Amino acid sequence: RAKSAGGNRFELADPEADARAITRHGLTTALPAALERGEFFIEYQPLVHLGDGSVRGAEALVRWLHPQHGVLGPDRFIPLAEHTGLIVPLGRWVLEQSVRQARAWRERGGDTDPVRINVNLSPCQLTHPGLVQDTVDILERAGVEPQALCLEVTESALIGADDDLLKPLRRLAEMGIDIALDDFGTGYSNLANLRRLPVSVLKLDRSFTQGMQQFPADPVDLKIVEGIVSLAHSLDLAVTVEGVETGAQAEQLRILGCDTAQGWYYARPGPPERLHELALADATG
Ligand code: C2E
Ligand code: MG
Ligand code: MG
Ligand code: MG
Repeated sequence: RAKSAGGNRFELADPEADARAITRHGLTTALPAALERGEFFIEYQPLVHLGDGSVRGAEALVRWLHPQHGVLGPDRFIPLAEHTGLIVPLGRWVLEQSVRQARAWRERGGDTDPVRINVNLSPCQLTHPGLVQDTVDILERAGVEPQALCLEVTESALIGADDDLLKPLRRLAEMGIDIALDDFGTGYSNLANLRRLPVSVLKLDRSFTQGMQQFPADPVDLKIVEGIVSLAHSLDLAVTVEGVETGAQAEQLRILGCDTAQGWYYARPGPPERLHELALADATG
């Protein structure tokens, strides 16, 4: 925060905040060239079926290999990319890479069980007029059917969404693409509102999973998750849980009826070859 020190001069009141601001500014201006130079890469985290432990797909998570700062997580640069609009070409790049990767996994896996791919979509991408056509084109170019793709949109992005915002999502859902409500349970949305949204998957936020850490878990947390799962299933929505770090959590969530899980207990996000190894280990063991 800068404080006026007389005349037109400003004096720094908080040098650390200033350093952060400079980094933010530096990162923001470096984003477009980073995309051109290929400094972004994607890690994949498996999505595991809680019933039988099989790998059903993966979520694509973008990272930036910054020449000075090393690997930066999405929380460091996605908000900046959203602010400048670079999220549109960056998001398109992530989608294209991920869909092509899904195709490559399938080819190596002998076309047996199609690997599903989850890709995060930022609110800015939802309002971009090219979203539906870009998605169709990307799927066609890669030869991947829409049923293999799941687009994740956060609950907070859809709170109070009007029909204009929901229209592209409906088009995508009608094509057979799954829409997941990400970080569900953190946005204080009206549960009755769910009926209005073209979603087929609820991704229960990590904070609920954390409540399952001890065994037996907190009874109130259990009731809440139980309630969400039963509501979701009655609306024909599948439930995925994020942030599963222990076997005890996985077991609790399986008993509560959750369908799919994701978390360090199974695997951290990693390079695409890793998913292939996990899926293979799963098929043979
Ligand atoms: P998200 O979509 O909710 O993704 C899950 C986050 O939880 C990821 O963080 C993942 O690495 C982390 N995670 C997975 N398992 C565990 C676990 O067991 N314990 C803990 N503590 N964390 C776990 P990450 O990779 O840092 O991504 C953060 C957020 O950035 C994502 O949250 C998503 O909202 C956003 N993001 C990532 N990639 C993209 C992208 O390509 N486009 C957009 N628009 N957003 C993205
Ligand atoms: Mg996500
Ligand atoms: Mg999430
Ligand atoms: Mg999250």
